[in-house]
Amino acid sequence: MRLRAPLAVGASLLLMTSAPTARQSKVVALRFGAAVTGSGAPVTDAVVVIEGDRIKSVGTGNRAVPAGVEVVDLRPLTAIPGLIDAHTHMTYYWDGAAGTTPLKQARREPAQTVELAAANARKTLESGVTTVRDLGASGGTDYAMRDQIAAGKMVGPRMIVAGQGISAGRGGGPAIDAIPGLVDTRVKAGSEWIKVYASRGSFQSVDTTQTMNYEQLKTIVDAAHAQKIPVAIHSYGASGVKDAVRAGADSVEHGIELDDETIAMMAKQGTVWVPTIDHNRYYVDSKDEYGFAPEAIPPLNDYIQKNFESTRRAFKAGVPLAMGSDAVYSGFGQNTRELGWFVKAGMTPAQALATATTIPARMLRRDKDLGRIASGYFADIVAVEGDPLKDIDVVISKVRWVMAAGKVVVGRKPAPAPATLQAPSQAAASAPSLEDTIPPGVNFDKAEFKFWSPKDAATLRGVVVLVPGSNGDGRPMADDAFWQAFATKNSLALLGCRFTDKPHDQSFIEDYVNVSRGSGQALLDVLAKFASRTSHPEVGSAPLFLWGMSAGGQFNYEFTAWKPERVGAFIVNKGGIYYSALLSKAARDVPGLLFVGEKDLQSRVETITGLFAVNRRGGAVWALVVEPGLAHVVGQSKELGAVFFEEMLSKPKGAGFIGDLRSFEVQPAASPGTPSTPNAWLQTERIATAWKTAVSAK
Ligand SMILES: [Zn+2]
Repeated sequence: MRLRAPLAVGASLLLMTSAPTARQSKVVALRFGAAVTGSGAPVTDAVVVIEGDRIKSVGTGNRAVPAGVEVVDLRPLTAIPGLIDAHTHMTYYWDGAAGTTPLKQARREPAQTVELAAANARKTLESGVTTVRDLGASGGTDYAMRDQIAAGKMVGPRMIVAGQGISAGRGGGPAIDAIPGLVDTRVKAGSEWIKVYASRGSFQSVDTTQTMNYEQLKTIVDAAHAQKIPVAIHSYGASGVKDAVRAGADSVEHGIELDDETIAMMAKQGTVWVPTIDHNRYYVDSKDEYGFAPEAIPPLNDYIQKNFESTRRAFKAGVPLAMGSDAVYSGFGQNTRELGWFVKAGMTPAQALATATTIPARMLRRDKDLGRIASGYFADIVAVEGDPLKDIDVVISKVRWVMAAGKVVVGRKPAPAPATLQAPSQAAASAPSLEDTIPPGVNFDKAEFKFWSPKDAATLRGVVVLVPGSNGDGRPMADDAFWQAFATKNSLALLGCRFTDKPHDQSFIEDYVNVSRGSGQALLDVLAKFASRTSHPEVGSAPLFLWGMSAGGQFNYEFTAWKPERVGAFIVNKGGIYYSALLSKAARDVPGLLFVGEKDLQSRVETITGLFAVNRRGGAVWALVVEPGLAHVVGQSKELGAVFFEEMLSKPKGAGFIGDLRSFEVQPAASPGTPSTPNAWLQTERIATAWKTAVSAK
């Protein structure tokens, strides 16, 4: 069911409306409920102006928004600086294949590892981490990932890398006179840090045996410092930590039972300690996945307690601490859980946040451009839901949107409003919106909605239903200037939706997406409520125009499968997993627009193109679009989606057009019912012509 030559409709489709296509360093204003900047008190009603990959200014309120710039309104979310994970192993990849474990898998070529490890990089970004210090990789894989990310060829956090660590062989640590050469080789290859293993201990082993002596460590540190390269030293045991600190290490990784003298020395020298408490919690939780023996678990738990206890004492004594996950294999995405341990160890949430922002930025000698939201700094910004200074869990598990170096990598992507759609009039903008909630149902915890309608519309022609990705809050989308302008122009209402899953042990998909189990009814119920609360009784039965991203797209598809009679048209943006494959005739007759991202996960692309193909063969009047160059983000799809809805509002009759997915030829169709997989159905001449223009330009 895979289509080899997917239909490509890009920005040029929108050229019909003369939308801008140039990708210069444009200026964007981000609005947040508040911003925790890393300097001083939080800024309320924050406006962060971005130019290219940098922050231009930080201000507050309407007056801080420069005239004429694009505005991305993320209120009420709170902005925090992009986080820094001081200890990762980004190139440790495991695909979870049956019969393998992370430590028992077939060898791969370095190039293949780099490609696959992009998944680790993406999960890391999703946790709010926009910079990592990667401490140990083989085959030059970390250099390759760093360079690809920096060049914009791979989506991931900025990587500062160490290459292969220096460790002791069977006969002990390296000979003293060989050490400068070992350091030099790494620096020449591209290492920005030197990583040293001064003890045993890794994975399920908590062996604290020191494997390099003070003289060896001191020689490594001196050789590296002579080249202005800092050194990170791994030691599970106390003696190795002490020797590392005495030798002048810039950071020490892991460690337990630190004595007062060592702690005092670290505080005095400013040696950064990266205790990586949580990584052993990860090994305990993942014991089955790894196949660890049961007897490995008590020592891991014992190590966690001692590690935590030393952290508590070190924090009290003023040692600078940094958040390091030591993430490997399936641990990516859990990068920030260390912050929970730090708060337990006595830090305030603000102090814990510093261990992932200002402190590691200083450690990396990047405190002039990383770790703060301030003018001149990199535009690395994370939007979280809630107050991160009250509850550190807001940082750990409520990341909703991430910008890295000026690019939106998680959540909504800023997109310019197309020229066809006028800016909303003052009257439209000031129309009140209404909110309502449906109590928990079978498959959702709570369903919350925001309804907006243009002030002057006598009769509404339909409702645009906006559903964001996985458990996201779509209510702010009802305030979105783009959608309000579109709704005003076409006499439509907007309904921003937020569905949250019921907590459950086992789920591979957002459960609320299974609409027939209750969430779909919640949507109909709330429309009935708004019909009675507003002067628009027609919204209780008006056609729905469903726009959805990722899990939101899945929701829309399943809703169309369930209640095709209520749907005017639906859009699926890059969802991954579905309950229904071949839909009913009535559902196949609802116009659909399915997007895939050219660079999205292959499984998502295959799923959507497969659904398209099987339903197209069944006569579905759907179009398939591949957004060129994009992955799992909203690209041109908002604008193209609006054009599509606008066309479908007029309920076009006629046979439409067939777009050949291989030759890109467009032919008038003999009848709507002439499906031929893998051809796309292009409902109107406007869409067909635009599609042809776009693909011919390719
Ligand atoms: Zn490590």
